[in-house]
Amino acid sequence: MLLKNKQSYDVVVIGGGIVGASCTLALARSGLRVAVVEKECWGSGATAAGMGHLVVLDGSEAEYALSSYSQTLWHALGPKLPAGAEFCSPGTLWVAADTEEMAEAERKFHYLDDRHLPAKLLTAAQLMAEEPELRAGLAGGLLVPRDSVVFPPVVVSAMLEEAAKLGATLLLGSACTHLGNGEARLADGSTLHASRLVNAGGAQSTSCMPGLPVKPRKGHLAVTDRYAGFLHHQVVELGYMKSAKQLTAESVACNVQPRITGQILIGSSRQFGQQDAAIDHALLGKMLRRCMSYLPGLAKLQVIRSWTGFRASTPDKLPLIGPDPRDNSLWLATGHEGLGITTSLATAQLIDCEITGRAPAIDPAPYLPARLLDPNTSLLNHQEELL
Ligand SMILES: Cc1cc2nc3c(=O)[nH]c(=O)nc-3n(C[C@H](O)[C@H](O)[C@H](O)COP(=O)(O)OP(=O)(O)OC[C@H]3O[C@@H](n4cnc5c(N)ncnc54)[C@H](O)[C@@H]3O)c2cc1C
Repeated sequence: MLLKNKQSYDVVVIGGGIVGASCTLALARSGLRVAVVEKECWGSGATAAGMGHLVVLDGSEAEYALSSYSQTLWHALGPKLPAGAEFCSPGTLWVAADTEEMAEAERKFHYLDDRHLPAKLLTAAQLMAEEPELRAGLAGGLLVPRDSVVFPPVVVSAMLEEAAKLGATLLLGSACTHLGNGEARLADGSTLHASRLVNAGGAQSTSCMPGLPVKPRKGHLAVTDRYAGFLHHQVVELGYMKSAKQLTAESVACNVQPRITGQILIGSSRQFGQQDAAIDHALLGKMLRRCMSYLPGLAKLQVIRSWTGFRASTPDKLPLIGPDPRDNSLWLATGHEGLGITTSLATAQLIDCEITGRAPAIDPAPYLPARLLDPNTSLLNHQEELL
């Protein structure tokens, strides 16, 4: 239901993906009057397109801090989620193809072990025992058993249902065209007022705030029919991190996930400079061949659907979480690239603590938007372009 007149809230959140829903729920739990605005369907953006792998990454200390804190929050939330959220913990099996990648597995093991995160180095024989479908001749691997999997759109629904019970207003069907100076103007002519506005628009967060340093990064996924027992862990090649961090126009890496349903979710690709959601069949083929080079048995499985989605990428590979230095009503919760399902819960905690003035569990400094936004650049100039 859309409200045609002026409405006032403590906080207006733009975007009903996993990040917007997590923020809405956290703020509603803190007793704030929150409205969340979504122009399409709840959880329909990258949240519906992603793999739902809840994975601790260590590309930087900041990435580790956010993803490991978030994973702790997911383990607390997981058992309370509805069955349709398919929360489970198959663990991640990082696969080393050669001795160079095995050295990376060892580095990763020591990094996690030093931080008391369970992980186990595997010889080539142990790797094959964990996943018999892997091809012969791999060097070994690293098992991170606490990494988990979830079906994010169901989590979004559950979060928004709880937030609504706490008094949050859910506004579906109109885009926010202008965000700033305590106002969210919607395409249907409504204006929402709030002392805090949170932009959680993912790859489209520039649609109401042009000039944000967020760019869409396209990805492809494919899913098979049901083949229970084919795979036991999320299997990721150790070269995946290299591919995720690359700023080249396009890359693929083996990232394959067993779903509770018995289906196998196959990823993934990364492309810059693409706005078109159509499947790039050449790239999809390249991605599938990459995965089959690790798991040859995939060739016998029936793929029933493939699709694309857009990650919200930032120049320094960290999300933008916190106040916008150019407008004291504006807050950002965007730019989560390929890790936003994992890091949504920690993002919401940071936003909630910063807005309510409570001490956050982790240092918010590395994610503050001020690192990438010039406080002297007038946001108004950008917004006027939209009017
Ligand atoms: C192929 C692929 C695989 C991935 N795999 C994983 C994974 O395994 N693990 C992981 O952690 N992450 C993964 N990700 C990343 C993850 O999906 C995203 O980081 C996450 O979903 C971001 O959530 P979000 O809420 O910020 O954005 P979105 O889910 O895109 O939500 C933003 C919402 O805001 C709405 N919106 C935008 N602008 C406006 C506006 N002006 N007015 C109103 N509404 C607006 C959009 O309609 C959208 O629904 C993957 C992503 C892709 C594409």
